Amino acid sequence: MASPHSSTQSLEVTVVGGGLGGLTAALALRLRGLRVTVLEQAPRLGEIGAGIQTAPNASRILLGLGLRGRLEAIRTEPLDQVRRRWQDGSIIGLTPLGEFCKRTYNAPYWHYHRADLHRVLMDACVDPDGPGPVVDLRTDSRVTALDRGDPARPVAVTADGAEYAADVLIGADGVRSAVRDLMGAPDTLRFSGDMAFRALIPGDLIAADPATRWLVDRYQSTIWYGPDRHLVHYMIRGGEFLNVVGCVPCTDEVRERWTVASTARELVDAFPGWDDRVAAMLGKAKDDVSCFALYHRRRDPVWMDGHTALLGDACHAMLPYQAQGASQAMEDAAVLAEELGRVTRAGVETALRRYVDRRAKHAGMVQDASLRNMAFYHLPDGPEQEARDELLRRGFSGESDISYDWLWSGTPLHDPDLGAFAYQFAR
Ligand code: FAD
Repeated sequence: MASPHSSTQSLEVTVVGGGLGGLTAALALRLRGLRVTVLEQAPRLGEIGAGIQTAPNASRILLGLGLRGRLEAIRTEPLDQVRRRWQDGSIIGLTPLGEFCKRTYNAPYWHYHRADLHRVLMDACVDPDGPGPVVDLRTDSRVTALDRGDPARPVAVTADGAEYAADVLIGADGVRSAVRDLMGAPDTLRFSGDMAFRALIPGDLIAADPATRWLVDRYQSTIWYGPDRHLVHYMIRGGEFLNVVGCVPCTDEVRERWTVASTARELVDAFPGWDDRVAAMLGKAKDDVSCFALYHRRRDPVWMDGHTALLGDACHAMLPYQAQGASQAMEDAAVLAEELGRVTRAGVETALRRYVDRRAKHAGMVQDASLRNMAFYHLPDGPEQEARDELLRRGFSGESDISYDWLWSGTPLHDPDLGAFAYQFAR
């Protein structure tokens, strides 16, 4: 993609946080010719050992960044999304994915190991042969202060006293964003009352047991609905692992500590009385199960101040009940790059305002819908649950009240170049 700055000095951007949102933004900005520094607090860049799904709205962005070949090497493609009932595993809803998504939304629905997806983004950021200036990735760089004395050159100050001035500062530093606090944005953090067990179960154990073999016979994205809790699972790395997320009421300990190590036994015990196949599956987890308290942010239209703006969980952390947190951060990244990619220094504030205008309402609707799904998924057995199941059985496309059609179409992008990378499915 051509940069409007190719003949002059391009804009400099500091991105605080090298998670999936921060790296997608860094790559998208690089491709527009902007000079990007990423400051990451961790000693090494990486992601946790867990799975992640990108629905077509996010896959489209990743493909648009030229990552198709690299993603095809690490993705697993589910053929359908299946919703099951907790007690007997009966199917209450089925949404086609696979070819259907590529044909309808011109982008796939894919599953990955988070570390693989993160590595693909990181490699593309620093690829010396890629288009645009190579991204400067700095680890061990925890941002502890901002100096905005010169409003046009915000400075990120790290714990070791180093200072990074740039034309734009983006806080992509997650749900407990320091940049957000330092820029004086309102406290929107909320505790949901739920926690998520996460585990990667070895695929060979799943394949070897007749009680769980069905999970490898057809790759699917599965959600089991039960009173007060639900369970999500899908295969990643072509069957190497079954990724499991079990959402249940939170304990006081997890609420306080945010992340706590757990065990296969505790995971099985969290789903008492559920279909026998659930215990057969969860009982194969190794003891590297973890528990995460589920915090989210209240919808908030204030994502920017002058030349500083927020992206991803820092501004719209949501419950994972639409599997959209990182995907919405990727949409942020694409829109941010479109807006910053067409201005000079004088236009930065206007560009950031346009970014927020195009993204805040959309992401806010996904935040709200994710929160509503907490009640929708967890209905006790009874008339409301029966009405929900009937809705899903009739092929309702989506959950709560945003449709998959709206969600998977994503925020409209202006750039015709993105279309050139769009997924050409096999006819
Ligand atoms: P983060 O991933 O939190 O990254 C922030 C980065 O900033 C981190 O690397 C951190 O170390 C760094 N940082 C923090 N503070 C500082 C500082 N002061 N200075 C420098 N660096 C700092 N989303 C999907 O799209 N699909 C899914 O399938 C999905 N499944 C999920 C399942 C579960 C159980 C959960 C909990 C979430 C799920 N999500 C999913 C949501 C997704 O994980 C998050 O929305 C996404 O990872 C947020 O990305 P981010 O880059 O905004 O923040």
